[in-house]
Amino acid sequence: MAKCKTCGKTIRIPQGWTIGPAVRRHYWSKHPEVMTRPAADRKAEASIPSKPRSKKT
Ligand SMILES: [Zn+2]
Repeated sequence: MAKCKTCGKTIRIPQGWTIGPAVRRHYWSKHPEVMTRPAADRKAEASIPSKPRSKKT
């Protein structure tokens, strides 16, 4: 389960999906303005826990 950082809604992840596409689908559906604005897009991307960045351990 993921939580939208924009509206706080819980994003359901369909079976067989990963969190990234599920969150993107939510964003495109509910927050298209976020996805179409380049600056905000990067911000949204950062808040989407789709792929783990190179983590330092
Ligand atoms: Zn949302």
